[in-house]
Amino acid sequence: MILVTKPFLPPISDYHQYVEGIWQRNWLTNMGPLSNDLELKLKDFLKVKNLLFVTNGTIAIQMAIKALGLKGEILTTPFSFVATTSSIVWEACKPVFVDIDPLSLNMDPSKIEAAITPNTSAILATHVYGNPCDVEAIDKIAKKHNLKVIYDAAHAFGVEVAGKSIFEYGDISTCSLHATKLYHSIEGGLIITKDETLLKQLAYIRNFGFDGPEAFATLGINGKNSEFHAAMGLTNLTFIDSISEKRKLLSERYNEKLKALKAVQPKWHQNSRNNYAYYPLVFESEALMLKCYNFLQTHEVFTRRYFYPSLSKSLPYVEEQSLPETENISSRVLCLPLYYDLSIEEVDLICNLLLNAQNK
Ligand SMILES: *Cc1c(COP(=O)(O)O)cnc(C)c1O
Repeated sequence: MILVTKPFLPPISDYHQYVEGIWQRNWLTNMGPLSNDLELKLKDFLKVKNLLFVTNGTIAIQMAIKALGLKGEILTTPFSFVATTSSIVWEACKPVFVDIDPLSLNMDPSKIEAAITPNTSAILATHVYGNPCDVEAIDKIAKKHNLKVIYDAAHAFGVEVAGKSIFEYGDISTCSLHATKLYHSIEGGLIITKDETLLKQLAYIRNFGFDGPEAFATLGINGKNSEFHAAMGLTNLTFIDSISEKRKLLSERYNEKLKALKAVQPKWHQNSRNNYAYYPLVFESEALMLKCYNFLQTHEVFTRRYFYPSLSKSLPYVEEQSLPETENISSRVLCLPLYYDLSIEEVDLICNLLLNAQNK
């Protein structure tokens, strides 16, 4: 059986070294030494000025919306994981979907202005599969209309645009360090902002709004993460180069073997490189995609219709919106298995099954 993803686990002894330290200090959570160390090491690795380690990637988005004081309508992409949209609703704002570019699969900047109303306060876009949005175009529109920008960069760990971390674009970027992501701390998230005032606000929010033991600076939540999660993050960071190399190797094997398959990959941002977080394919037709999906399943290979259905059509708490490009793409897209433990032989097997399914 081959699943679409499998979390990376480091050698247990590496993790255990950190756990011994936790036992000695008896400091389990609340911005402990391992959490602080992880933040320092990630800042260095990602080349970002500021970063906060939080509970997960969803609360990171919610905290970003709260810290920016957003109200009213937020323009967002319907081609993302549910947390992008649900966080907007959770913060009592209204998601307004902007259709995607059918090549990059990210929010189409040329469709943003038509969706802006006097109630629009921000743009919340996802770098889908780690592929950077057209950040320059989005930034320009945001400035012109005085809108805030949040990037859901859950897929974009380690991605750069023109030599600069993708996390430094927008007012705030968020990342997920969930077990299924490229780099993980079991559960976890990151918030990145260059703005020091905003950073301070976010730090208060992460810790119930506390400003010292008896005073409060603002309305807060529990967005902290534990020393055990930080320990996994620190351990996995020492393997990040081999994780990335392996994913690249497997992705290139897929590329090489699937030339005859009637499916294409998203068009990548021209000043950026793939981080191989996913291996998405947009098939020529939904019929062909389903043929492949089902055939693989009968051979115990599980792919995922990621992202399907469109968020603009499937959430009971959001008004339906018609978005032709998103509906078209999401009906034909499939993510193939991609994870550290996957072997070249397994990739070859998957490729053969796909080509057999197409020829049936
Ligand atoms: C995984 C993911 C999230 C949520 O992150 P969690 O850490 O699971 O809360 C948000 N947005 C996108 C696009 C994701 O893929």
